[in-house]
Amino acid sequence: MSLTVQEQRTVRFVFLGAAGVGKTALIVRFLHDRFDFKYTRTVEELHALEYDTDGARVRVEILDTSGSYAFPAMRALCIRTADAFALVYSDAERDSLEEVQRLREEILEIKGETFAGITVVENKADLQSGGRLATAEVMRTAEEEWGAGFVETSARTGENVIAVFRDLLEQVKLPSRVSPALRRRRQTLTRDGAREKQLVKKNNSCILS
Ligand code: GDP
Ligand code: MG
Repeated sequence: MSLTVQEQRTVRFVFLGAAGVGKTALIVRFLHDRFDFKYTRTVEELHALEYDTDGARVRVEILDTSGSYAFPAMRALCIRTADAFALVYSDAERDSLEEVQRLREEILEIKGETFAGITVVENKADLQSGGRLATAEVMRTAEEEWGAGFVETSARTGENVIAVFRDLLEQVKLPSRVSPALRRRRQTLTRDGAREKQLVKKNNSCILS
């Protein structure tokens, strides 16, 4: 018997972090190569793209969160349904690094102590407000103590934004040399209109698949 239905795998990346650190800006830079200085509060947005790798089709979901949930149970649900996390902070947002530490603890509580699939992101590198030393220290903690990835980005300049997604793909053991394919697919989606780009937009809810 031959298989006619192509095997499809779905992976979900969830962006978490304090409000204002640039989660939405990073995703928008990656998907549309744009940057907006204006701050618009995110409720929750799910983006999806598909690509082919070694004959298997992969659906990549990117969940942009608000940074605050009305009920802790909602955040727990988001964590449970995710495959990998981008934990974003910025030196411009007070206490956002502490929030990353707190979120990591919550993730390990839910996913188990041995869970691997976290990329720590220091965004707003263009502002240079925290200093190289602080960045190096967080990078060391993330990589050596947590076994997580670390990427310093600027959604404003676009610096290293693709590296975040590459790292997330590596976290879920998917080939990370897919950015050109992802980019092609994204252009197709943009040409086709917003059809698949923004699948769900809900108020204060975690999207379930
Ligand atoms: P979110 O709440 O984490 O989704 O944060 P947003 O993506 O909405 O960004 C919050 C604010 O920070 C907006 O005014 C963005 O324009 C700004 N911002 C986001 N990323 C950067 C960055 O890399 N550099 C600078 N200078 N500003 C940024
Ligand atoms: Mg946002």
